[in-house]
Amino acid sequence: MAAQLIDGKAFAATLRARVGGHAAAFVARTGRQAGLAVVLVGHDPASEVYVRSKGKAVLAAGMASFEHLLPADCSAAQLLALIERLNADPAVDGILVQLPLPAHLDEQQVIAAISPDKDVDGFHVINAGRLAVGLSGFVPCTPLGCMMLLTDQLGDLSGMEAVVIGRSNIVGKPMAQLLTAANATVTVAHSRTRDLPAVVRRADIVVAAVGRPELVRGDWIKPGAAVIDVGINRLPPANGEAKGRLVGDVAFAEVAEVAGAITPVPGGVGPMTIAVLLRNTLVAAWRNEGLEVPQDL
Ligand code: NAP
Repeated sequence: MAAQLIDGKAFAATLRARVGGHAAAFVARTGRQAGLAVVLVGHDPASEVYVRSKGKAVLAAGMASFEHLLPADCSAAQLLALIERLNADPAVDGILVQLPLPAHLDEQQVIAAISPDKDVDGFHVINAGRLAVGLSGFVPCTPLGCMMLLTDQLGDLSGMEAVVIGRSNIVGKPMAQLLTAANATVTVAHSRTRDLPAVVRRADIVVAAVGRPELVRGDWIKPGAAVIDVGINRLPPANGEAKGRLVGDVAFAEVAEVAGAITPVPGGVGPMTIAVLLRNTLVAAWRNEGLEVPQDL
């Protein structure tokens, strides 16, 4: 393998330790813990796993975790009333509604009900707008985590060609905005892009956020490029495996022969998402108290 491995797991552990230090300083300064409220509607097994691991990580960082479990058939009015209570609760600095919601609930309406100052997922249109015009707000955790890994690996991104594959509101679009703000020249590719391999071959930085197992191949990559694989895809079980393997959107073995640096799946972007959620929650806490956010948070 020619590429350097970008160790998201180790980076995330360092970030979590730093957040833990600042969380303790927050308690010393304000006499209370920073708090994250997580709302889960229904019993989607993957969502239950995510919510549990977020709760554990919040506690481990020295912050308070408030879990609200609502039945799958809860009404929009019930959910919106809960969000209203959390918006008004001074012990709650961040509010996260675990997606996807059951089909009868309107995700945009629910996200819009969260106070933008507690929207630590960065999904509210006010925070998307702040990112677009260069104001400080909350940036979605996964692309912000990717950006931290890229700047740690490459330093100044000015003038670099970046290709983001995927244009979702939670990954692709904010990723493109962050790269643009860092002075990269950004192309956003998607399912209608003509000749995707040729577009990707121009890139010094490739961010794949597609949801298609091993779509990006070795011969798409410019030698030396940095490759960030956001995808999490479970393959069907093979050779008597109980569960299929987890793979990214990048064919790791062949791309690693050409790239200069690459994130693995698992152990790359995934661990960054929760670490950045902790970071965003603590940033919200300092701001909600009207205090200056520590520089290195
Ligand atoms: P999404 O909302 O489904 O968006 C996928 C994007 O990929 C869309 O813009 C789509 O284009 C594009 N696309 C689909 N097929 C394509 C193809 N063949 N060629 C080029 N573009 C194609 O997905 P998402 O929420 O952004 O997530 C993307 C992946 O990241 C998923 O595997 C997800 O599990 C993973 N993810 C990981 C984390 C983490 O913590 N590591 C967090 C979030 C998501 P159109 O817009 O034209 O449809």
